[in-house]
Amino acid sequence: MIIALTGTPGTGKTTIASALREKGYDVLDITAYIKENDLLEEYDEKRDTHDVDVDKLKEHLGLQSNCENTIIIEGHLSHLLSPDITIVLRCSPSVLKDRLEKRGYSDSKVKENVQSEVMDVILCESADLGNEVFEIDCTDKGTNIIISNIEDILSGNTDMFMPGSIDWTKEMEKWF
Ligand code: ADP
Repeated sequence: MIIALTGTPGTGKTTIASALREKGYDVLDITAYIKENDLLEEYDEKRDTHDVDVDKLKEHLGLQSNCENTIIIEGHLSHLLSPDITIVLRCSPSVLKDRLEKRGYSDSKVKENVQSEVMDVILCESADLGNEVFEIDCTDKGTNIIISNIEDILSGNTDMFMPGSIDWTKEMEKWF
């Protein structure tokens, strides 16, 4: 089974991926994989990011859906790779803003990412692709609780994590 662990930059994917690895899960860092395998396309100066050819990446990975092993693919593009299950990590916009500023992102990059979180962009992309998708609010949760939420989803206890359960749109005016 292929699990995508995705979310807006800063929501905690890398942190959770590393905790999952410590627990023995097979977790692929897709951002590192893209760099290591020279799969970055043109640099988009305006957005301060590189494009990625998702079809080329999929072919390069050669993953089979419904495979016996559980493989977790971590990264903000992972939901585009035809996973069996997509888990979107979410974070309240104000906390996310602080995290991205601390990371040294430019004002425009912080704004773009916070707006994307407010607008559920990754969740909607995942749902539009027909993925089975769940979301976890990671704002005030420690790593162990988030891991336990992920394990709930993997064991089929998904009621608490249905898409649409998290809503930042009340804050829309503040961020646009
Ligand atoms: P991503 O990989 O999604 O970009 P990171 O895992 O790098 O996000 O986390 C972004 C920042 O937020 C880091 O400074 C990290 O220490 C912090 N962080 C991540 N998860 C949590 C959490 N559950 N609670 C508090 N801080 C967190």
